[in-house]
Amino acid sequence: MPRNPTRAVRIGSIAIGNGNPIAVQSMCSTKTADVEATVAQANALAAAGAGVVRIAVDNHREAQALAAIREKTNANLSVDLQENYRLANELAPWVDKIRYNPGHLYHHEPDRPWQDKVRFLVEIATRHDIALRVGVNCGSVDPALRDKFSPNDSIGPMLASALEHCRLLDWLGFFRYCVSLKDSDPAKVVEVNRRFAAQRPDVPLHLGVTEAGMPPEGIAKTRVAFHELLGSGIGDTLRVSLTLPSARKHEEVLAGREILEDLAAGRLASAADVGPKRLNIISCPSCSRVENDAFVELAQQVRDVARDWADYPITIAVMGCRVNGPGETDDADLGLWCGPNCVNLKRGSRRVGAFRYDEILPRLREELAALVRETGLRLNPPTRETGR
Ligand code: SF4
Repeated sequence: MPRNPTRAVRIGSIAIGNGNPIAVQSMCSTKTADVEATVAQANALAAAGAGVVRIAVDNHREAQALAAIREKTNANLSVDLQENYRLANELAPWVDKIRYNPGHLYHHEPDRPWQDKVRFLVEIATRHDIALRVGVNCGSVDPALRDKFSPNDSIGPMLASALEHCRLLDWLGFFRYCVSLKDSDPAKVVEVNRRFAAQRPDVPLHLGVTEAGMPPEGIAKTRVAFHELLGSGIGDTLRVSLTLPSARKHEEVLAGREILEDLAAGRLASAADVGPKRLNIISCPSCSRVENDAFVELAQQVRDVARDWADYPITIAVMGCRVNGPGETDDADLGLWCGPNCVNLKRGSRRVGAFRYDEILPRLREELAALVRETGLRLNPPTRETGR
């Protein structure tokens, strides 16, 4: 398979890019401060074939737990740094890579330029001999860039953000980094990664369809994007983000390996495999930030409730927490994001209200009916599978 001539980036005991095997990654969904559970899951993911295991860390307590986790696992560890970039200083001794999100660099110390924050991260990564990932996400893109593009252009600001971070990292003399550009729409993942690779064929790419949802639909969506990209030489590492209970999290790794095996065997997926636009449920894969353990079950229940609308071109987003929930539900027709005791319901970017976990499903059903009634959404033509 032809591969783009990316440079090699070492992450612990593996390297990505420069023709190295495409590493499959996954992420822990346990509470990071629960050392035993996180170690068990990290080891299970590594045993399933994960080349890198990511762990979310948002506070000092979780950073301390990471030291204990490091002692008990040989998995290559990446940390997911969201809002508190300064935690990098505490984390770096215990991990092999830090992922930062350019859009989240604005939250802490908003008066400090993001360039200074990247410089801080580079100093730490250099001192501790670890890699960085610039992780650009459709729902949390750099607000300064978002305002420069048309509201209909979601790809422009993502691409601009990734490219400007690459320029800064290069200028700082730091080259041990990779980039990810993730969206929940596989077609956008293909387009944004193609455009990035055309401009920066040297930078290793971490592929992902974010919030792909539950299997098997989530795997099908991801397969389409990955086969298109990998088939044209784009991609050095990947993650299949699936909404799964903790005990089944290793299925993300198995799905990633199967996608690669199918590609190697010439069993190619195409956009036709996910069919015309019908009911689309996007849901986050959950991580330690999930605000209520009922999240995965809720996502499954949403899929059951929405079956009556299966042939309508409706997108429902179900997210596990407030970090990405409010932003990444904006583009969905209906969005649900979880708080500790309530689920926030949105119609597009408009907030409908917050409902208890035992109230939300009937409320969602009402909102689905109202959406179809008020917008005059048309049923898609019947398919052989649905028979309708
Ligand atoms: Fe984790 Fe929240 Fe993202 Fe879900 S939305 S994966 S809980 S950060």
